[in-house]
Amino acid sequence: MTDFTTRDGSVWMPEYLVSIDGATCIGCGRCYKVCSRDVMHLHGVDDEGEILGKCEEGEDEDFDGELNRMIMVVDQAGNCIGCGACARVCPKNCQTHVAADKVAA
Ligand code: SF4
Ligand code: SF4
Repeated sequence: MTDFTTRDGSVWMPEYLVSIDGATCIGCGRCYKVCSRDVMHLHGVDDEGEILGKCEEGEDEDFDGELNRMIMVVDQAGNCIGCGACARVCPKNCQTHVAADKVAA
């Protein structure tokens, strides 16, 4: 098993963000703001919760009138360093993190 450590050699177990529950996420954007690694992005969903596409920053896309609400989607999971910052700011507890020694490479 790989040992993960901080700079001073203390044991540190990264907790990678692997998914966000689209049913409970309110699309507040807090996780996106604190993440330094470009792991997740806002996506539009329709009335049925189907993902319509990524919402580009600064653009007011309504997906041809289909947009119901926005949720955060983990679309670049491989960028995550497991810092845990996103978990600290989420008001809905809708994120799933997995310890680095439990996640498949
Ligand atoms: S754990 Fe850290 S790097 Fe990973 S998604 Fe959350 S804030 Fe970004
Ligand atoms: S902080 Fe939580 S509720 Fe807000 S966008 Fe991120 S996952 Fe969704």
